[in-house]
This record gives sequence, structure tokens and C-alpha cells, in this order.
Amino acid sequence: MSFFSSRGGSCVTASQAILRGIAPDGGLYVPAMFPAVSPAKLAKLSGMPYTQRATEILKLYLEDFSIPEIENAVNAAYSADRFDDERIAPLKKIDGSTWSLELFHGPTLAFKDMALQLLPHLTTLSARKNGEQREVSILVATSGDTGKAALEGFRDVPGTSCTVFYPMDGVSSVQKLQMVTTGGSNTHVIAVNGNFDDAQTGVKELFTSDEFISAMNDGGRVLSSANSINFGRLVPQVVYYFSAYADLVAEGGIVAGEPVNFVVPTGNFGDILAAYYAREMGLPVGKLICASNRNNVLTDFFETGIYSTHRTFFKTSSPSMDILISSNLERLLFEAADRNGDLVGVWMKQLKECGSYSVGDQRRDWLRGIFDAGFADDRETLQEIGERFRQDHYLMDTHTAVASKVLRDYRARTADTSPAVIVSTASPYKFAADVLAGVAGTRAAEALDAFACSEKLEELTGVPMPAQVKALRDLPVRHTASCEKTDMAAAVLNAFA
Ligand SMILES: *Cc1c(COP(=O)(O)O)cnc(C)c1O
Repeated sequence: MSFFSSRGGSCVTASQAILRGIAPDGGLYVPAMFPAVSPAKLAKLSGMPYTQRATEILKLYLEDFSIPEIENAVNAAYSADRFDDERIAPLKKIDGSTWSLELFHGPTLAFKDMALQLLPHLTTLSARKNGEQREVSILVATSGDTGKAALEGFRDVPGTSCTVFYPMDGVSSVQKLQMVTTGGSNTHVIAVNGNFDDAQTGVKELFTSDEFISAMNDGGRVLSSANSINFGRLVPQVVYYFSAYADLVAEGGIVAGEPVNFVVPTGNFGDILAAYYAREMGLPVGKLICASNRNNVLTDFFETGIYSTHRTFFKTSSPSMDILISSNLERLLFEAADRNGDLVGVWMKQLKECGSYSVGDQRRDWLRGIFDAGFADDRETLQEIGERFRQDHYLMDTHTAVASKVLRDYRARTADTSPAVIVSTASPYKFAADVLAGVAGTRAAEALDAFACSEKLEELTGVPMPAQVKALRDLPVRHTASCEKTDMAAAVLNAFA
């Protein structure tokens, strides 16, 4: 399988796409075609464990990796000592026609682990395949979840290091604690005196600073990215859509071949894009429902065909979806443009220079044949958490609840009551204060810290608190470095000194 830039650039192998992360023309790497999974092959997945399902899907894209290489990587990534459920991505029935695909059983309690547990293995293999002898140094700017997932993924992986910048006052106390207590001899965590945009802009500048790059190269290091636009983060996500379908067939929730709707809480459009890839490969999908919080730029896009960032940015109770520029949408635009990279390049230029672009009514209608979209605000989200718990005894985190509410609205609006899977992206204990407020009212969480909220939530719901949350309280803080936003290069070099 070859990969091209979504803006038309030249062809690379899978391992080159993973190592480079982003194409030289600024586009994202897209596969030359979507490999087909036949109904017979799909049927076989039902009898396989998650690791084997992953190998079957990954090998279709990672053609310059050998089967044993892929098998070793998935076995190491999705192992019992890293995931607290042996099914890895268990499917749970919520009501007569609704299931929850739980993607939060990994070490950091959010779905980013599904990709970031595997990416380090793919990265080191890619380095080896391309004759790269230097240490692969991952740099990440995080608003919370990605940083910890990247640290856990790359921790003590030989030949790599992982440095994470987080905004000093811009992450939750649990998220901060998760990062600064990270173990491992190759991890660095640095607080930036600024907001997430400052950290993100600073990291982007490091990737293009000749002075910084040569200083790193002189130390025997080469820079790489664990950002969600890396194809190595996208392909592991395709797997769990096939896995969910295989489980649904196995438990008799659907008959083989019957279409299923997926509703996905969306920020950077990586998770739902993987569902679209699965659909193109032959997975029987009805509608892909894109769920947003109050930052509903994507809801408007699917409605009007116009993507516009001229809007207010809101901080919500589902912070991992607080985003105005959904990077991975570019890969869908490439398909909407009939794979015309020049056209995608024009739209992206308009987005950068004018803050908006329009794909036109015809392309919008094509997109709406595949996608539906909706959003829920914070009040609706908390209400949905309460309702789901009372009606179905199912406890959801805030991000998942956004999706659940959007599905409820979709069913009421369209009368499409086909079987649907809600993609559950985080443990309720990662956002315990808001989840507690949803279950027991906003006053229940008042004046309690995150640990107290978690204890109360466990007491009220009987849903066990994950061991990671309990452990967090007693773990020693290992990372105390901080820097000004103008001094990030020096901070990295200092961390390696
Ligand atoms: C990252 C994240 C999302 C959004 O996923 P995208 O791939 O960026 O659309 C949703 N929920 C949680 C908990 C996340 O961490």
C-alpha cells in the first residue's frame, strides 16, 4: 500500500508515512486505496481475540511490515498488564438497540490509548526499516489526554524518548497529576507558562527550527510526532469498528451484513474518520453520526457545507472536544473532492488565510448521505448522564454522554432506530466531578476535589473506580520542570543534558 499527501504530494510507504507524520506539502498521508474486507473475512473476525482482529486489519495497510512484526507489536500493545479488560475494546449493551463500545480500558483511561499503545512499536519498526539509527524523539503539546497517553505509550521503549508540554494552568488536576507522576527513563514533562495554543505553537515552531533540529541531531536524535494526524494513530482506530461489528454479530445483536449506526464524540475528527475508513473497506455501516459539544463547527459544516472558524471558543465539560480546527477532516475532504489534492490544498489555504471554506452543495449532499451530525451543550450532557444511569444503569463520561444525547436526538428526528453503537471515549472517573453532577445534581460535587468526587461516585453508582485513579493519589511527582513559552527549545535540550 502506498500513501499520498491529501494535497497531492508524492508517494511514500507506510513506514515512511508513520515516521514523517505529516507530508512535506503540509497535507496528511492518505492510503492509495481502501483495501476490501469481504463478508467471509468479516465473519471470521467474530471468532478471534482483539489482537488477531488487529493483525488482520493492520496488515492490509502496513504492507512494508511483516506479519510477525505486526503480531508482536499488537501483542505488546494490547496486553493484559496494560488493559484492565481482556477483551481490550468490550462492547456493552445499554438498551434494546444501543450498545457502548468501551475504548477506555487502557492505562490512561481514554480512547487515545488504543492508538498510542501501538504507535511506539510502529514508530521504532519504521525507524529501523528506513535505516534511522538515531533516537526517535517525540515532542507533544497537550491539552490533557494526548500527553499522558503518549507518555505511557513511549515510556521505556528503547530507541525513543517522549517530551510533553502542557499549559501550566490549562489542564485538570487529574490530568496534571497523571502526567507529572509518569515513570520511565525516557519521559520528560514540562509545564509552559501559557495556554494550550502557546504550547502547541511552540512545539510546531520547534519542528521547523533549523537551529533546534541540528542541536537535536547533534545529540543523536531525530524529531517525530505522536499527533493524531499521524497515519500510525489512525490505523489502530479502524480496528475497533470491525471488532465492535464482529462482537455484535457474535452476540446476536445483528445478523451478518446488517448495517449498524455509529455515533462518535468528535474533536479532531480522527476517531470518526477511522469509522469512515472501515465503511469504505466494506464494514456494513448505516449512518456515521458526528457528535459535538457547544463547539459545533462540524455540525454546521455537515449542515451547510461551509467550514468556518469565525466563532466563539467555549470551554465545556467535554474538554477533549473543545476544538475549532479539526485537522483530520482534511482526509475526508480529500474523498469529498474525488481525491483531487489541489482542491483540498485550495480549501486549506482558504481556511488558513480567511478562516473558512465551502465545499459546495453537491459535495455537502454526498457527505450527508454518509454522515449525520448534532451537538449537545453542557446542561444536556449532564442530564443525559443522569438519564442513562437511572434508565439503563450505565455510567458514561461527559464525552460519551454528548454522543448518547446526539443519538437520542437523531432517532427522534429521523425515526431511524437501527442498532447503534455509541463510541465511549473515556472512563467516567476521568471526569468524575461532572459525572457526579450528572448523576446526583450539581451541588453534589461542590467543594469536593477530584478524589472525593470519585469516591462519592463509586459509592453512589457501584461502578468500580479504576486502579489508576486510586494509585494517582500516592504516586510521587517526578516531573517539575517548567519554562516560558519563548524558552521551549532550551527546555528540551536541558531535559536531555
Ligand atoms: C480525543 C478525545 C475525543 C475526540 O476524538 P477525535 O479523534 O479528536 O475526534 C473524544 N473524547 C475523548 C475522551 C478524547 O480524549
